[in-house]
Amino acid sequence: MLLGPPGAGKGTQAQVIADRLGVPAISTGDIFRANVSGRTELGLQAKSYMDAGDLVPDEITVAMVKDRLAEDDAKGGFLLDGFPRTIAQAEQLRDSLHELGQALDCVLELVVDEDELVRRLSGRRVLVDGQWVQRDDDKPETVRHRLQVYREQTAPLSGWYDSEGLLTQIGAIGAVEEVTERAMSALETCGGARPDGPSAG
Ligand code: ADP
Repeated sequence: MLLGPPGAGKGTQAQVIADRLGVPAISTGDIFRANVSGRTELGLQAKSYMDAGDLVPDEITVAMVKDRLAEDDAKGGFLLDGFPRTIAQAEQLRDSLHELGQALDCVLELVVDEDELVRRLSGRRVLVDGQWVQRDDDKPETVRHRLQVYREQTAPLSGWYDSEGLLTQIGAIGAVEEVTERAMSALETCGGARPDGPSAG
């Protein structure tokens, strides 16, 4: 799984790394945005939280991820991007994976300082229906709020996964390809380096 603040490049790296590993990249942000554009019930529930830069409530998010992880293409492994984002989500993820006979092998944290994050997010444009637009939640006030939410609710996961022996941190400043190479070398060692294997603990 990829951990890191908004703007760290998780989405970009998730696509490339998942391709290289031959597993699906599961991004809760992408699933929410697809549901918002498709005007589904889930999209309607999530939209106001996303627009405000707040987290979508755990029960909605966890149920959605559980369904996704139960799909066939996730049986041989998967890469999580943007989930979990709270300790409660992490606990429920561990339990769901246990039920599926799986466990996380590795948590990669993308480390970027906050000035760089603000620069990246306020300059970010995404392609929607052939047009480059600013995501509503990339507006400066919302960006500051998302970073605060990250510090308060998500950053504690770093210590949590470190104490489980799963965490590797990599610097995520530099060219996309350089960061991918750092990520791939980190992945080679982290999962296999634990003597008791993924199901221990
Ligand atoms: P970023 O990492 O740039 O903030 P994401 O696409 O991962 O972008 O998330 C966008 C928004 O989607 C979040 O601000 C939040 O509202 C919602 N979201 C995504 N993942 C989660 C999650 N695991 N728990 C709660 N809300 C989430």
